Amino acid sequence: MPRVATKTTSSKTASGGRISARPAADVVAGPSHDCPLCPRLVEYRLDNRARHPDWFNAPVPSFGERGARLLIVGLAPGVQGANRTGRPFTGDYAGDLLYATLLEHGFAKGAYRASPDDGLTLIDCRISNGVRCVPPQNKPLPIEINTCRQFLTATLDEMKQLRAIVALGRIAHDTVLKVLGMRASVAPFSHGAVHRAGNVSLYDSYHCSRYNTNTRVLTTEMFSAVFARVRSDLDKG
Ligand code: SF4
Repeated sequence: MPRVATKTTSSKTASGGRISARPAADVVAGPSHDCPLCPRLVEYRLDNRARHPDWFNAPVPSFGERGARLLIVGLAPGVQGANRTGRPFTGDYAGDLLYATLLEHGFAKGAYRASPDDGLTLIDCRISNGVRCVPPQNKPLPIEINTCRQFLTATLDEMKQLRAIVALGRIAHDTVLKVLGMRASVAPFSHGAVHRAGNVSLYDSYHCSRYNTNTRVLTTEMFSAVFARVRSDLDKG
């Protein structure tokens, strides 16, 4: 998979203000704190920083060791979840279900208390998002998904032990397919489906959002079954 070249860039926001970009020391695996590449999301970030200066309000880095065999890919940070706390899926409903499920299947240890300093650690597992910045109304634009995909590519590229990817929702699934160089026609999204890409398996799940669980599109049991399958497959080696 291609690596992302380190570079320093700047751009104008929708209101015309220039965003200065710092050189991104970890740009291979993740964007800079002030990544300027998506003007609409930069504008929203600056607005959130002004209204909530105590929040994280920046591209949310991946959580977990790069040597993990499992990578979970979500859509984007929630405004009062990861965007507030700075750790993926931390602080909103989706995190309650995700971390409980990871603890259940031995992919995490400790206690999840909806805070980055709760001491919870991931085991053989890493969590990232297809889009690193919070989008308005939780809806990234296609161009933002395409722009941020370089960082997911870099994340996969540095995970040399990667064997399993859980895609949370159709957009995450489609993004992962593009990173893996797979056509959607040969690997359509379907909850519970498993697609092979070389020595990596892609597991599909509906997103663990409050909306999906409230409407019973996704039950706790359905979500647990996806990770039980991942656990079983990884344990077989
Ligand atoms: S979504 Fe990704 S590419 Fe766009 S500004 Fe945020 S970190 Fe940069």
